[in-house]
Amino acid sequence: MRFLRFLIASVLASTLASPTLAGGYALITVRNGESLGEIAGRYRVDVDAVRHANDMGSSNLIRPGDVLRVPFGEAMGGIVEAAPDPPPGFRRHVLSSGEHLSAVVARYGITMAALVGANPDLSSLDRLPTGVELLIPPSEGLVVTLYDPSELAALLAHHGADAATVARANGIRSPFDLRAGMLLFLPGIEPSSSLERLARVREEENRYVWPVHGRLTSYFGRRNLGMGTSNFHRGIDVAAPTGTPIIAARAGTVTFAGWSTRGYGYLVRVRHAGGAESWYAHASRILVSVGQSVQQGERIALIGSTGLSTGPHLHFELHVGGTAIDPLAELR
Ligand SMILES: [Zn+2]
Repeated sequence: MRFLRFLIASVLASTLASPTLAGGYALITVRNGESLGEIAGRYRVDVDAVRHANDMGSSNLIRPGDVLRVPFGEAMGGIVEAAPDPPPGFRRHVLSSGEHLSAVVARYGITMAALVGANPDLSSLDRLPTGVELLIPPSEGLVVTLYDPSELAALLAHHGADAATVARANGIRSPFDLRAGMLLFLPGIEPSSSLERLARVREEENRYVWPVHGRLTSYFGRRNLGMGTSNFHRGIDVAAPTGTPIIAARAGTVTFAGWSTRGYGYLVRVRHAGGAESWYAHASRILVSVGQSVQQGERIALIGSTGLSTGPHLHFELHVGGTAIDPLAELR
C-alpha cells in the first residue's frame, strides 16, 4: 500500500518536467514563537521556497496565526504529486483578496457544509489566504481520496456510502475507471469530523484575551453614581499604571484610532472576523493606525487617563451586532 503510493508518486515525478505548485502545497498555521527557519526545517523545505510560495519577497516576518503555504514538492523531498482532477460536476474557485467563505457559498448557492465536504482538509474557515483554490461541489457530500482501489469497498463502508450512488456520481462504470489517488465524491455523506475540527479552530480563533491585566474597578451594566443617579456602563474598567501596554484582545483590523469626542479620550477600535468590535479607551498613547491589521496580543496603545476618566485605566467594550455586550463573558 505505502509502496504503491510511493511508486505512483515516483512515476508522476518523473513525468512532470516542470512541476506545478497549483494545489501542491500544505497550509500550516504559524504558532507562537515559531520562526520561518524553524518551519522550513520542520518540513525540510528551503526557506526561499516558503518565501516564494507566500509572496514574502526577502522578508522573514511571520506572526502567530499567519497561514503559510509549504510547497509539497519541497516538503516531500523532491517528489511532486499532481493535484488530482476533481470529480465530475465540480468547479474550482480561487479565493480573492478579502473574500470570505460565506461570500463563496452565497455566490454558488451552496451550504457551508457542502463547501467543507468538498474541501475537508481546510485548516480554517476564517483565515485562508488569498489564492487558495477551493472545489465547488454540485451538491452536499464528502470528497475523499481513494488511495488504493482495492480498498474501495472498505472506504465506502467506513463512510456509510452507497456503492451505486458513488459510482454514478463519479462516472465509474468498471473497476478499470478506479485510479489510486483519485478523488471520489460521496453524495449526501456529511463531513462531520471536518466540521467538528473547523468549529474547534474557529472557537480558538474567535477567542478574546485580556487586553491588559490589572484590577477590575468597574463591571458591565447599570452602576450607581450616588446621589440617586445611575447610568449604564457599556464595558469593564481595568486599572493599571500609566504607560502599561494594551494588547489587541483578538486579531482584526483597526477601524478607529484617535481622539474621541464622546468621553473615551484616545480610543482604538478593532473590527474582528464576523463583524464584532473591541474598543479600548482612555489611552495615553496610540500605537496603531486606521486600516492596520493587528494580531491577537499585539500592542495597540498604552494605558492612560484621557477623556472622562478619574485615573489611569482601560475602559474596554465589546460590540457584537452593534450592541455592547459584557466582555467578561468572552474573555479567557
Ligand atoms: Zn469604563
